[in-house]
Amino acid sequence: MSDRATANSRQVQTLLRGRPASDGAGVKLTRVIGTPELSELDPFLLLDEFRSDDADDYIAGFPDHPHRGFETVTYMLAGRMRHADNQGNSGLLRAGSAQWMTAGRGIVHSEMPEQEDGLMWGFQLWINLPASDKMTAPRYQDIEPEAIPVAELPGGARVKVIAGQLETAAGPVEGPVSGIVTEPLYLDVALPPGGRFRQPLASTHAAFVYVFEGTAEISAQPVARGEIAALGPGEDVEIAAGDLPARLLLIAGKRLGEPIARHGPFVMNSQAEIMQAIQDYQAGRF
Ligand code: MN
Repeated sequence: MSDRATANSRQVQTLLRGRPASDGAGVKLTRVIGTPELSELDPFLLLDEFRSDDADDYIAGFPDHPHRGFETVTYMLAGRMRHADNQGNSGLLRAGSAQWMTAGRGIVHSEMPEQEDGLMWGFQLWINLPASDKMTAPRYQDIEPEAIPVAELPGGARVKVIAGQLETAAGPVEGPVSGIVTEPLYLDVALPPGGRFRQPLASTHAAFVYVFEGTAEISAQPVARGEIAALGPGEDVEIAAGDLPARLLLIAGKRLGEPIARHGPFVMNSQAEIMQAIQDYQAGRF
């Protein structure tokens, strides 16, 4: 398989920088999707990067809060975060681990730092659920770092496959996350200087690249650290590094094409369903 762009490679359609934001009980973060400039990228509703070695920026954490109608995906690069919900589920997110939480009809949970100093670095992505799945039973997939396959590719890329299927000359490498309705691809791609990487993408899928180290080039268009590149149509994406290493998320998911009614941690199809979610939450029905 070639790592060169085909005539139909996806191009950068929108290039934006995340903006500083605060969420939870005052956690400082960078909001990348879910901003006035990029309110969503169907099926993606939100992308946050949190990265600080100043405990004041993260120590307050995300105390008890609800979710309904979508999925949250947390991927940690550094630090430790404790997750606990109102069903008695609890787990520790540590560097290199991921948690795929299908909130479905509703959970109430907290996400709190389990450290008082040092670097806390990671991402949270929100992925929408179609109308048919919004009220599904909540489900967790807690993925330990050791369960995430790492592929070293001929173009120099080192790729962690969190969800979906990475195409390699030796055959597909499958991520550990399973049974997600939007058939997501979630890759952590590290490129050495001059490294190249190519990945096929289904035409049904919206796709983006978020660069979190160095600068990457997508079909020769530079994308700097802290920038998101939403990709246009095409059958694959070609990503290269320049003179310095680069590291990025390549994420894709099936477009839903449904109406979005959004109110904080509730994402439904209509305003009536939002009102119902608020009532159910206030009545303790989550
Ligand atoms: Mn949450």
